[in-house]
Amino acid sequence: MCRHLAYLGPATSLAALIFEGANSLERQSWAPTMMRQGGTVNVDGFGVGWFPAAPDEARADVGSEADAPLLYRRTGPIWNDHGFAEMSTVVGTRAALAAVRSATVGMPISEEACAPFRHGRWLFSHNGLLPGWPDSATRLIETLPTAALATSGATDSALLWAWLRARLDAGDPPASAVRDLVGAAAQIPGSRLNLLLTDGSTVVASTWTHSLFVQSAPGRLMVSSEPLDTAEGWTEVPDASLLVATRDEIDITPIHPAPSRGR
Ligand code: GLN
Repeated sequence: MCRHLAYLGPATSLAALIFEGANSLERQSWAPTMMRQGGTVNVDGFGVGWFPAAPDEARADVGSEADAPLLYRRTGPIWNDHGFAEMSTVVGTRAALAAVRSATVGMPISEEACAPFRHGRWLFSHNGLLPGWPDSATRLIETLPTAALATSGATDSALLWAWLRARLDAGDPPASAVRDLVGAAAQIPGSRLNLLLTDGSTVVASTWTHSLFVQSAPGRLMVSSEPLDTAEGWTEVPDASLLVATRDEIDITPIHPAPSRGR
């Protein structure tokens, strides 16, 4: 199963977010400690989307309308991309979403299939699967607007993203859009739905089977599938929860979407 993280806070480097820490996202690609329900390593690609900021820049406006996230995605293991490791030391950001991928059986290995998925200011990742996709997802697909169908893509995650994107484009608040998506997708028994969404100012995440942790300090938020280091202050988000957070506030509420919850 994939691992992902989202960061909001003071300007830092992509390297600090992805490669630093005893249990960094890079380490989780080859030695994850909390993989539940299948998967052993995350070697089928990786990606990072980030809102750029010079590392030493004391700007307060990142997250404003002027900023759009940049995207870097590759197939193959993150540890193999030495150029990215070097480049990431000089790329600054105040808001980012990164993921390492373990492709679900039957899903393509391609850059397009790697999170994060980007749309305007939005970055999205899905850790989990829809069992029996695409046949099991007929009802979910039927609720998609026609325009979104064309971009629902070749993976279960791309389908979830097309659904969510349509709701965001319609102006729905991100938290209720994510909650509703978990509710709709959880109708497929055995769905695993750890979703992660950010626009650089807010992070919305769901837990539905897989692990998720949060670490916060004044003006700084990290949400991650696993604690990135042994420091104090990592709190596990309970299963079946919706997390809505900014740099300064975290709200975690239960999700009760589905009459039956197959595992
Ligand atoms: N099902 C998604 C994919 O194939 C996510 C996989 C995962 O969480 N391991 O990319």
